[in-house]
Order: sequence, then C-alpha cells, then structure tokens
Amino acid sequence: MTVAPESVQQSTPVCWCCAREFDDRDLVRLGAHPEVGVCLGCARFLQRRAEEREDQLHPSRGTRLRGMVRSARKWVIGHRWHELPVIGGLLRRIDRRLP
Ligand SMILES: [Zn+2]
Repeated sequence: MTVAPESVQQSTPVCWCCAREFDDRDLVRLGAHPEVGVCLGCARFLQRRAEEREDQLHPSRGTRLRGMVRSARKWVIGHRWHELPVIGGLLRRIDRRLP
C-alpha cells in the first residue's frame, strides 16, 4: 500500500544545529535552502563563530579585545558559572550585550 504525499504528516521542525524541536516561527531559514532551519540561539552562536573567523582573518586592536571577551566567555562557560542561580542570569544578560 502506498501513502499519498498529502497524507504524510509534517514533523515538528528541528534545528539543524542543536537538533532540538522548535516552533517554526522560532527558526531562521537559509535563503537558498529553506528546508534548513536554525534556532535563534544557534543563529547567535553561528554569528559569533563568523565574527571570530573574520577577526582571525583581519587582526587589529578591536579583534584582540573581542578575543579577550571570547576567552572570558569560554572560561565562564567552562566553569558553568552561567548556570548558577543568581549570578548566572546576570552573566547571561551581560553576554547578550557583548560582541
Ligand atoms: Zn539550535
């Protein structure tokens, strides 16, 4: 027995980066490949990775400063301070404003 394509149910959209399920409105789609969706958190992560790559390609004083911010962020995450009850929320709020 074959199943008609229109009877196949759409599955819950999944982020192609972290593989978690999201509502479709919470995913960012790629222009040439709209089947690829990335959640907002992963889109922010990818933006930071792209900025890091640009900084590596074009070093300057500003890139060194951003590198220090990245190192501090990695240290905080490595020590899981961002998950602490009170200071974690404050650190995450500060992080949203950092490059
Ligand atoms: Zn994601």
